[in-house]
Amino acid sequence: MSEKRLQKAIDTLKESGVRITPQRHAVLDYLLNATIHPTADDIYKALEGNFPNMSVATVYNNLRVLREIGLVRELTYGDSSSRFECNLTEHYHIICESCGKIVDFHYPSLDEVESLAQKVTGFNVSHHRMEVYGTCEECQQLETQKH
Ligand SMILES: [Zn+2]
Ligand SMILES: [Zn+2]
Repeated sequence: MSEKRLQKAIDTLKESGVRITPQRHAVLDYLLNATIHPTADDIYKALEGNFPNMSVATVYNNLRVLREIGLVRELTYGDSSSRFECNLTEHYHIICESCGKIVDFHYPSLDEVESLAQKVTGFNVSHHRMEVYGTCEECQQLETQKH
């Protein structure tokens, strides 16, 4: 499954004329298998062992290239680091307030919210973003162990 997605992503890179460097390949492979929506720093830490010459800046640069050709989505959080993912289908996020992990879940797209917002504000709506917050199962378990 993930092999297929990697191959498809690599085909997209080739079609876009983007050079497939070993690092770019590794970043893409890592992101395709990551479920936590890692930061550039997370990706750097996971891969630095294999690429001693790699820097966080290289990871950022690779992520930017992948984002520009539409293979990667960037979730920005104000001042704090962006998170990255390869899941480009419509979905929502739930975020653990303890460890910061972001998990995907599916819910019918809230189209009515968009059309209502457009109607009452006169904005030309482009998209929306909804996030649910809580404590993940692992953090709940850590919490009970402490007591
Ligand atoms: Zn957590
Ligand atoms: Zn996601």
